[in-house]
Amino acid sequence: MAKDTLTRFIFENTPARGMIVQLNDSWKQLQNQKTYPEVVNKVLGEFAAANSLLAATLKFDGLLTMQIRGSGPVSLMIMECTSLQHIRGLAKYDESVHQGNLRELFGDGQLAITIDNSNSRERYQGIVELEGEKISHALENYLLRSEQLETKLYLAVDINNACGLLVQKLPGDNNPTDDDWNRITQLAATIKDKELFDLSAQEIIHRLFNEDDVRLLGEEQYQFKCSCTRERVGNMLVSLGIDEIHSIIEEQEKISIDCEFCNQHYEFDAVDAEELFAVEIQHPIPKTKQ
Ligand SMILES: [Zn+2]
Repeated sequence: MAKDTLTRFIFENTPARGMIVQLNDSWKQLQNQKTYPEVVNKVLGEFAAANSLLAATLKFDGLLTMQIRGSGPVSLMIMECTSLQHIRGLAKYDESVHQGNLRELFGDGQLAITIDNSNSRERYQGIVELEGEKISHALENYLLRSEQLETKLYLAVDINNACGLLVQKLPGDNNPTDDDWNRITQLAATIKDKELFDLSAQEIIHRLFNEDDVRLLGEEQYQFKCSCTRERVGNMLVSLGIDEIHSIIEEQEKISIDCEFCNQHYEFDAVDAEELFAVEIQHPIPKTKQ
Protein backbone atom coordinates (compact mmCIF):
# COMPACT_ATOMS: atom_id res chain seq x y z
CA MET A 1 0.00 0.00 0.00
CA ALA A 2 1.57 3.21 -1.11
CA LYS A 3 1.68 5.97 1.44
CA ASP A 4 4.09 8.69 0.26
CA THR A 5 3.43 10.60 3.43
CA LEU A 6 5.24 12.51 6.11
CA THR A 7 3.61 12.54 9.54
CA ARG A 8 4.52 15.06 12.25
CA PHE A 9 4.03 14.48 15.96
CA ILE A 10 4.97 16.02 19.29
CA PHE A 11 5.37 14.65 22.78
CA GLU A 12 2.85 16.43 25.01
CA ASN A 13 4.79 16.11 28.27
CA THR A 14 8.34 16.30 26.94
CA PRO A 15 9.76 19.09 24.73
CA ALA A 16 10.51 16.84 21.81
CA ARG A 17 9.02 16.26 18.39
CA GLY A 18 9.18 13.70 15.66
CA MET A 19 8.46 12.97 12.03
CA ILE A 20 7.96 9.77 10.07
CA VAL A 21 8.38 9.73 6.30
CA GLN A 22 7.29 6.79 4.16
CA LEU A 23 7.96 7.11 0.44
CA ASN A 24 6.75 4.37 -1.90
CA ASP A 25 5.45 5.34 -5.35
CA SER A 26 7.49 8.53 -5.36
CA TRP A 27 10.62 6.53 -4.50
CA LYS A 28 9.96 4.00 -7.27
CA GLN A 29 9.36 6.78 -9.81
CA LEU A 30 12.50 8.53 -8.64
CA GLN A 31 14.54 5.43 -9.46
CA ASN A 32 13.07 5.93 -12.92
CA GLN A 33 13.75 2.51 -14.42
CA LYS A 34 17.43 2.86 -13.63
CA THR A 35 18.71 -0.28 -12.00
CA TYR A 36 21.13 1.11 -9.49
CA PRO A 37 23.43 -1.38 -7.75
CA GLU A 38 21.99 -2.26 -4.36
CA VAL A 39 24.59 -0.30 -2.40
CA VAL A 40 23.95 2.86 -4.47
CA ASN A 41 20.20 2.41 -4.26
CA LYS A 42 20.36 2.14 -0.49
CA VAL A 43 22.21 5.43 -0.04
CA LEU A 44 20.04 7.14 -2.67
CA GLY A 45 16.93 6.00 -0.77
CA GLU A 46 18.44 7.30 2.46
CA PHE A 47 19.00 10.61 0.69
CA ALA A 48 15.34 10.65 -0.40
CA ALA A 49 13.98 9.93 3.07
CA ALA A 50 16.42 12.26 4.85
CA ASN A 51 15.88 15.05 2.33
CA SER A 52 12.09 14.88 2.82
CA LEU A 53 12.54 15.07 6.59
CA LEU A 54 14.95 18.03 6.40
CA ALA A 55 12.79 19.87 3.84
CA ALA A 56 9.81 19.44 6.17
CA THR A 57 11.62 21.62 8.71
CA LEU A 58 11.78 24.60 6.29
CA LYS A 59 9.71 27.48 7.52
CA PHE A 60 9.43 29.16 4.11
CA ASP A 61 8.78 28.24 0.47
CA GLY A 62 11.90 26.84 -1.03
CA LEU A 63 14.05 23.95 -2.02
CA LEU A 64 16.40 21.76 -0.04
CA THR A 65 19.17 20.00 -1.95
CA MET A 66 21.54 17.34 -0.67
CA GLN A 67 24.49 16.67 -2.93
CA ILE A 68 27.75 14.75 -2.83
CA ARG A 69 30.31 15.11 -5.60
CA GLY A 70 32.81 12.41 -4.85
CA SER A 71 36.13 11.11 -6.11
CA GLY A 72 35.11 7.50 -5.40
CA PRO A 73 33.08 5.06 -7.52
CA VAL A 74 29.95 7.12 -6.80
CA SER A 75 30.83 10.44 -8.42
CA LEU A 76 27.51 12.21 -7.85
CA MET A 77 24.47 11.82 -5.68
CA ILE A 78 21.86 14.54 -5.63
CA MET A 79 18.41 14.83 -4.10
CA GLU A 80 16.04 17.80 -4.13
CA CYS A 81 12.83 18.31 -2.24
CA THR A 82 10.64 21.41 -2.42
CA SER A 83 8.39 22.80 0.28
CA LEU A 84 5.52 21.57 -1.94
CA GLN A 85 6.81 18.02 -1.28
CA HIS A 86 8.07 17.46 -4.83
CA ILE A 87 11.09 15.21 -4.81
CA ARG A 88 13.64 14.17 -7.44
CA GLY A 89 17.16 12.80 -7.38
CA LEU A 90 19.78 10.65 -9.06
CA ALA A 91 23.18 9.02 -8.67
CA LYS A 92 26.12 8.58 -11.04
CA TYR A 93 28.52 5.75 -10.43
CA ASP A 94 30.96 3.51 -12.20
CA GLU A 95 30.80 -0.25 -12.34
CA SER A 96 33.62 -0.69 -9.80
CA VAL A 97 31.21 0.29 -7.01
CA HIS A 98 30.83 -2.29 -4.26
CA GLN A 99 29.64 -2.53 -0.67
CA GLY A 100 31.55 -0.14 1.56
CA ASN A 101 31.34 2.77 3.94
CA LEU A 102 30.68 6.33 2.81
CA ARG A 103 34.37 7.04 2.20
CA GLU A 104 34.71 3.92 0.06
CA LEU A 105 31.68 4.94 -1.98
CA PHE A 106 32.31 8.65 -2.36
CA GLY A 107 36.07 9.00 -1.85
CA ASP A 108 36.90 12.37 -0.37
CA GLY A 109 33.54 13.94 -1.23
CA GLN A 110 31.57 16.11 1.16
CA LEU A 111 27.84 16.35 1.59
CA ALA A 112 26.58 19.81 0.69
CA ILE A 113 23.17 20.82 2.00
CA THR A 114 21.74 23.82 0.18
CA ILE A 115 18.58 25.65 1.10
CA ASP A 116 17.05 28.05 -1.44
CA ASN A 117 14.45 30.43 -0.13
CA SER A 118 12.18 31.11 -3.11
CA ASN A 119 10.73 34.31 -1.61
CA SER A 120 13.87 36.12 -0.54
CA ARG A 121 15.99 34.36 -3.20
CA GLU A 122 18.59 33.78 -0.52
CA ARG A 123 20.70 30.65 -0.44
CA TYR A 124 22.32 28.96 2.54
CA GLN A 125 24.81 26.16 2.29
CA GLY A 126 26.16 23.80 4.91
CA ILE A 127 28.94 21.29 4.39
CA VAL A 128 28.93 17.95 6.15
CA GLU A 129 32.01 15.76 6.39
CA LEU A 130 31.28 12.15 5.53
CA GLU A 131 32.36 10.81 8.87
CA GLY A 132 31.05 7.49 10.08
CA GLU A 133 29.33 4.71 8.31
CA LYS A 134 25.97 6.25 7.71
CA ILE A 135 24.30 9.26 6.13
CA SER A 136 22.01 9.41 9.17
CA HIS A 137 24.99 9.96 11.52
CA ALA A 138 26.48 12.62 9.25
CA LEU A 139 23.12 14.44 9.27
CA GLU A 140 22.71 14.16 13.03
CA ASN A 141 26.09 15.89 13.39
CA TYR A 142 25.08 18.54 10.88
CA LEU A 143 21.82 19.35 12.71
CA LEU A 144 23.63 19.56 16.02
CA ARG A 145 26.30 21.89 14.68
CA SER A 146 24.24 24.09 12.37
CA GLU A 147 20.93 24.25 14.24
CA GLN A 148 22.02 23.23 17.75
CA LEU A 149 19.27 20.63 17.57
CA GLU A 150 19.85 17.25 19.11
CA THR A 151 18.36 14.78 16.67
CA LYS A 152 18.15 11.06 16.11
CA LEU A 153 17.53 9.82 12.61
CA TYR A 154 16.70 6.28 11.48
CA LEU A 155 16.53 5.50 7.77
CA ALA A 156 15.28 2.32 6.13
CA VAL A 157 15.40 1.59 2.41
CA ASP A 158 14.61 -1.18 -0.02
CA ILE A 159 13.61 -1.15 -3.67
CA ASN A 160 9.99 -0.22 -2.84
CA ASN A 161 10.38 1.93 0.27
CA ALA A 162 12.46 4.89 1.41
CA CYS A 163 11.49 5.64 4.98
CA GLY A 164 12.73 7.52 7.98
CA LEU A 165 12.00 8.35 11.59
CA LEU A 166 13.31 11.54 13.16
CA VAL A 167 13.08 12.58 16.79
CA GLN A 168 14.37 15.93 17.93
CA LYS A 169 14.79 17.80 21.18
CA LEU A 170 12.90 21.09 20.96
CA PRO A 171 14.92 24.20 21.70
CA GLY A 172 13.94 26.49 24.55
CA ASP A 173 14.24 26.81 28.30
CA ASN A 174 12.21 23.76 29.15
CA ASN A 175 14.59 21.31 27.54
CA PRO A 176 13.70 17.71 28.16
CA THR A 177 15.69 16.25 30.99
CA ASP A 178 18.35 13.85 29.86
CA ASP A 179 16.30 11.01 31.26
CA ASP A 180 13.28 11.90 29.13
CA TRP A 181 15.34 12.43 26.02
CA ASN A 182 17.33 9.25 26.56
CA ARG A 183 14.14 7.29 27.01
CA ILE A 184 12.66 8.67 23.76
CA THR A 185 15.82 7.98 21.77
CA GLN A 186 16.13 4.48 23.22
CA LEU A 187 12.55 3.73 22.22
CA ALA A 188 13.08 5.27 18.78
CA ALA A 189 16.20 3.13 18.31
CA THR A 190 14.09 -0.03 18.56
CA ILE A 191 12.40 0.81 15.22
CA LYS A 192 12.72 -2.00 12.66
CA ASP A 193 13.02 -1.42 8.92
CA LYS A 194 10.01 -3.63 8.35
CA GLU A 195 7.90 -1.54 10.72
CA LEU A 196 8.74 1.61 8.78
CA PHE A 197 7.88 -0.17 5.52
CA ASP A 198 4.66 -1.90 6.54
CA LEU A 199 2.94 -0.05 9.37
CA SER A 200 1.09 3.24 9.26
CA ALA A 201 2.72 6.19 11.03
CA GLN A 202 0.06 5.98 13.77
CA GLU A 203 0.81 2.31 14.34
CA ILE A 204 4.55 3.01 14.53
CA ILE A 205 4.06 5.84 17.03
CA HIS A 206 1.77 3.70 19.12
CA ARG A 207 4.18 0.77 19.08
CA LEU A 208 7.24 2.87 20.00
CA PHE A 209 5.84 5.46 22.36
CA ASN A 210 2.72 3.91 23.85
CA GLU A 211 3.63 5.14 27.33
CA ASP A 212 3.98 8.73 26.15
CA ASP A 213 1.29 11.22 25.38
CA VAL A 214 1.92 11.82 21.68
CA ARG A 215 -0.13 14.16 19.53
CA LEU A 216 -0.25 13.81 15.74
CA LEU A 217 0.16 17.18 14.02
CA GLY A 218 -0.79 16.23 10.50
CA GLU A 219 0.28 14.51 7.39
CA GLU A 220 1.75 15.74 4.10
CA GLN A 221 1.68 13.97 0.77
CA TYR A 222 4.88 13.59 -1.26
CA GLN A 223 5.26 13.02 -4.98
CA PHE A 224 8.01 12.54 -7.50
CA LYS A 225 7.99 15.61 -9.68
CA CYS A 226 10.75 16.95 -11.87
CA SER A 227 11.26 20.68 -12.22
CA CYS A 228 12.66 20.48 -15.74
CA THR A 229 10.90 22.51 -18.46
CA ARG A 230 11.67 23.31 -22.08
CA GLU A 231 12.33 26.88 -21.01
CA ARG A 232 14.95 25.86 -18.44
CA VAL A 233 16.67 23.55 -20.90
CA GLY A 234 16.67 26.46 -23.39
CA ASN A 235 18.26 28.76 -20.81
CA MET A 236 20.94 26.16 -20.19
CA LEU A 237 21.65 26.00 -23.94
CA VAL A 238 21.87 29.79 -24.11
CA SER A 239 24.44 29.70 -21.34
CA LEU A 240 26.63 27.45 -23.52
CA GLY A 241 26.91 30.28 -26.05
CA ILE A 242 25.79 30.66 -29.64
CA ASP A 243 28.99 29.24 -31.18
CA GLU A 244 28.79 26.01 -29.24
CA ILE A 245 25.11 25.57 -30.16
CA HIS A 246 25.75 26.28 -33.85
CA SER A 247 28.53 23.74 -33.95
CA ILE A 248 26.37 21.01 -32.36
CA ILE A 249 23.54 21.71 -34.81
CA GLU A 250 25.93 21.69 -37.73
CA GLU A 251 27.15 18.28 -36.65
CA GLN A 252 23.90 16.66 -35.53
CA GLU A 253 21.15 18.80 -37.16
CA LYS A 254 19.44 19.18 -33.81
CA ILE A 255 20.16 19.18 -30.12
CA SER A 256 18.63 16.30 -28.18
CA ILE A 257 18.58 16.42 -24.43
CA ASP A 258 17.09 13.89 -22.01
CA CYS A 259 16.46 15.04 -18.46
CA GLU A 260 18.59 12.85 -16.22
CA PHE A 261 16.07 13.03 -13.42
CA CYS A 262 12.87 12.08 -15.29
CA ASN A 263 13.92 11.01 -18.84
CA GLN A 264 11.82 13.77 -20.42
CA HIS A 265 13.13 14.29 -23.96
CA TYR A 266 13.78 17.77 -25.37
CA GLU A 267 14.77 18.68 -28.93
CA PHE A 268 15.95 21.95 -30.41
CA ASP A 269 16.49 22.32 -34.16
CA ALA A 270 18.22 25.19 -35.96
CA VAL A 271 15.08 27.35 -35.91
CA ASP A 272 14.52 26.73 -32.20
CA ALA A 273 18.13 27.63 -31.51
CA GLU A 274 17.85 30.91 -33.42
CA GLU A 275 14.72 31.68 -31.43
CA LEU A 276 16.53 30.99 -28.15
CA PHE A 277 19.26 33.48 -28.89
CA ALA A 278 16.91 36.03 -30.49
CA VAL A 279 14.76 35.81 -27.39
CA GLU A 280 17.74 36.37 -25.19
CA ILE A 281 18.52 39.61 -26.99
CA GLN A 282 14.92 40.95 -26.95
CA HIS A 283 14.36 40.92 -23.21
CA PRO A 284 12.11 39.97 -21.43
CA ILE A 285 12.13 36.25 -22.16
CA PRO A 286 8.74 35.16 -23.53
CA LYS A 287 7.58 31.59 -23.02
CA THR A 288 9.27 29.20 -25.40
CA LYS A 289 7.03 26.69 -27.10
CA GLN A 290 6.32 23.46 -25.25
ZN1 LIG B 1 13.09 16.24 -15.70
